[in-house]
Amino acid sequence: MQTYQSWGRYPPAAHTRVLPIRWRTDPIRLSDLSESVLPFAYGRSYGDSCLNNGGALLDVSGLGRFIAFDESTGVLRCETGVTLAEVLSLAVPRGWFLPVVPGTKWVSIGGAIANDIHGKNHHRAGTFGAHVTCLELLRSTGERILCSPERNVELFRATIGGLGLTGLILWAELRLKRIPGAQIAMERIRFSGLRDFAQLSTEDQEFEYTVAWIDCLARGRRLGRGLFLRGDHAPGPSRTSSRGKSRITIPATLPSGLVNRATTTVFNGLYYRAQVRTRQRKTGEYEPFFFPLDGIGAWNRLYGRRGFLQYQCVTANESEGAVAELLDQVARSSEIPSLAVLKRFGTVRSPGLLSFPRPGITLAIDFAMRGATTLALLDRLDQVVAAAQGAVYPAKDARMSAANFRRFFPHWQSFASQVDPKFSSSFWRRVTAA
Ligand SMILES: Cc1cc2nc3c(=O)[nH]c(=O)nc-3n(C[C@H](O)[C@H](O)[C@H](O)COP(=O)(O)OP(=O)(O)OC[C@H]3O[C@@H](n4cnc5c(N)ncnc54)[C@H](O)[C@@H]3O)c2cc1C
Repeated sequence: MQTYQSWGRYPPAAHTRVLPIRWRTDPIRLSDLSESVLPFAYGRSYGDSCLNNGGALLDVSGLGRFIAFDESTGVLRCETGVTLAEVLSLAVPRGWFLPVVPGTKWVSIGGAIANDIHGKNHHRAGTFGAHVTCLELLRSTGERILCSPERNVELFRATIGGLGLTGLILWAELRLKRIPGAQIAMERIRFSGLRDFAQLSTEDQEFEYTVAWIDCLARGRRLGRGLFLRGDHAPGPSRTSSRGKSRITIPATLPSGLVNRATTTVFNGLYYRAQVRTRQRKTGEYEPFFFPLDGIGAWNRLYGRRGFLQYQCVTANESEGAVAELLDQVARSSEIPSLAVLKRFGTVRSPGLLSFPRPGITLAIDFAMRGATTLALLDRLDQVVAAAQGAVYPAKDARMSAANFRRFFPHWQSFASQVDPKFSSSFWRRVTAA
């Protein structure tokens, strides 16, 4: 049965009803509904931006059809409930790839646009929205509006990264990119601190994809140690299917979860030391390179009933000091951080008014939800991010204050003027509360 919660399973939300959207051509009039509405695809957003507590959801997973694909130019048009996994299944055997992919393939085209997602190639390709050439937006009045970088430009810029608040995107057209094959030639480098990370990321432009895993429990001399991963597409077939299911699935939610300070300390230490040589090179399948966590189904259940939060921020360009401060605060706290990822964003401009990526270093850390102490730590991290002229990612957020949202997203008022009056979300009400 489909459940309507976000990936972090925090905060809980009660929806008045869920309206399935099946046909993009059906007349859909939302203005007669008494409550507000929000599109919902696969709930891979971590926090409350895909939830509408006290309102209705529009389940767009039925909008799963391809409309057109030009194999000679790589231009793809499809409905917005189509998953990235489905696009890859179609495109990779034909020598094409999505221009930007996140850390999971179980994301819809609509969700990728509405959060203007980024991937390991941000330094070269920018965000997902930069590759969208056209989309059709359904407003609550029943009006259908074609938007593109040249047409209805303000609405287009509000809809890219617009968190589902400007209307329902029915279909979109995007440009895929050519690849030589389904393999990835990759290199993994062990590094001992943030200075080494900074040095390695000066070479980013030589590789299509770069990202680093950080041991967020390491302190003192070891602060910021980790593994730097970089790679490029390479010739060769794929032996796995992108539609494939996970190899194992976490069967049920354990009341207190399996992720605790002891297990993550042991895991991080072992993972860091598992790589014996400083540099390791290999060529392999693209799936484990891009989507390592998809091998474990429903891994979010590992955090127990209270769920978890992901904190993802970006700090302005030369701010390794701010990243060190963030990591230090996390390591010294009594909270339970687990996975942590670091990447330097590039300078390609994000097209959306509320797009999160901007030049600088982005840090993402998962935290088990333990209540007030977890929230207090994340508030302290916000102060460091604000001082570093940075921002927190709405797709991962469930708690940033209205004041910080306005500081992090200076165009929010221009965005607000494009929001459809019938559309709302738990996130939007929180960050626009007086
Ligand atoms: C393991 C994992 C790794 C991730 N890695 C990354 C990463 O590397 N980079 C990154 O940027 N993100 C990442 N994410 C976040 C994820 O990519 C985004 O949250 C994505 O938007 C989720 O898509 P979804 O289809 O599940 O949409 P949902 O989470 O259901 O919805 C997301 C938003 O899109 C809106 N929406 C959905 N469909 C439509 C539509 N048809 N019309 C209008 N609005 C719509 C919703 O209202 C909501 O605001 C990751 C998530 C997970 C679980």
